[in-house]
Amino acid sequence: MTRTADTIVIGAGVIGLCVARALARKGRTVLLIGDHRPGEASRAAAGMLAPSVEQSEGPAHDFAVAARDFYPDYLEDLADETGIRVPLNRLGILQVALTEKGVKGLQKTASSNSRWLNRAELSELEPTLGHALGAVMNPDDGAVDNVILMTALDESIGRSGRITRVEAAATSVSLEKPEVETESGELVQAENVVIAAGAWGGMIRGADALAPVSPCRGQLISYRTTGLRHVTYGPRGYLVPRPSGTIVAGSTMEYVGFDSSTTPEGLARVRSAAEEISPALAVSIVTLEWAGLRPTTPDMLPIIGRDERYEHILYAAGHSRNGILMAGLTGEIVAGLSVGESPAYDLSQFRPGRF
Ligand SMILES: Cc1cc2nc3c(=O)[nH]c(=O)nc-3n(C[C@H](O)[C@H](O)[C@H](O)COP(=O)(O)OP(=O)(O)OC[C@H]3O[C@@H](n4cnc5c(N)ncnc54)[C@H](O)[C@@H]3O)c2cc1C
Repeated sequence: MTRTADTIVIGAGVIGLCVARALARKGRTVLLIGDHRPGEASRAAAGMLAPSVEQSEGPAHDFAVAARDFYPDYLEDLADETGIRVPLNRLGILQVALTEKGVKGLQKTASSNSRWLNRAELSELEPTLGHALGAVMNPDDGAVDNVILMTALDESIGRSGRITRVEAAATSVSLEKPEVETESGELVQAENVVIAAGAWGGMIRGADALAPVSPCRGQLISYRTTGLRHVTYGPRGYLVPRPSGTIVAGSTMEYVGFDSSTTPEGLARVRSAAEEISPALAVSIVTLEWAGLRPTTPDMLPIIGRDERYEHILYAAGHSRNGILMAGLTGEIVAGLSVGESPAYDLSQFRPGRF
């Protein structure tokens, strides 16, 4: 017997989970087809909500800011539903300057709502950054604990009577009709199909608009905390404090295919960038080292929307460096598109088929 639902979602990373949850809350039944692979980005990520630092232009930037501001209510709602409170840090993000040249550079590129902190103000705010010459403070940016977010989303999906989870790999999406084949040869059908398969999307037959998505490895290290409270960028990396008492330091950008292992050279680069921001880390204990694969596109913007030729196929993919930031809002928007609603945002820069 062929399984059916209103919508099939392929991929159970943060994007697929947010899309499936939003669809279920619109009353749709969902078949969520997802397997697990080494290098999945959503649990590996640092969790920064940094639209002011990772700046894009035009409506894409507005979308990123809206996605950041979508988080507080989203997490409140998720906590009411699941009992899992996902830590959210909205203290603002610091970009520290370590040289006079760095001061000039940062002051030139700072976003319009940021403010400059001089050395004394910075070291009062963050004593472990006392060696820096100053910093740009980007208010409202911050971080979410993406690992706990994934646990809460998994819990929400598990509780939903409208979502059926299928642990499998999808191998193809039919271009004639909304039908997906899995690796075991099972065919599942629906009214439409959302592809949210991270760095692997382009490997699904029929997902033509995802061909330009490629994996970009990022290596990360977590340290026992030094007391840092703000997410902090330095010239070559960043630090993300987590309420669990660790600091996540990242990250490399490496195009090495689907290899998600760490390397001594990569970790050394992350270490040196982290200790440059906070010298106290040189004597802090390393608790973990890992790597993940960002689903990157040539312009680093996501692919969101309906396929231009095959109306039954929608994409929620290629979120590159900002998939945690954009996840909740992407879920709402794609669920809306799938039931025929007009999006409240200008998605033209995210158009499938633009490459
Ligand atoms: C080192 C690093 C640091 C990052 N830091 C940040 C950050 O600070 N802030 C931020 O916003 N973003 C960050 N990101 C980016 C963010 O993690 C990603 O953009 C986001 O997680 C992408 O989510 P996804 O669901 O598309 O992909 P993934 O999390 O990779 O999930 C894709 C899922 O689809 C499944 N899948 C793939 N193919 C198939 C198939 N054929 N059938 C069934 N299932 C399939 C995979 O097994 C996987 O479970 C970072 C990423 C990395 C790697």
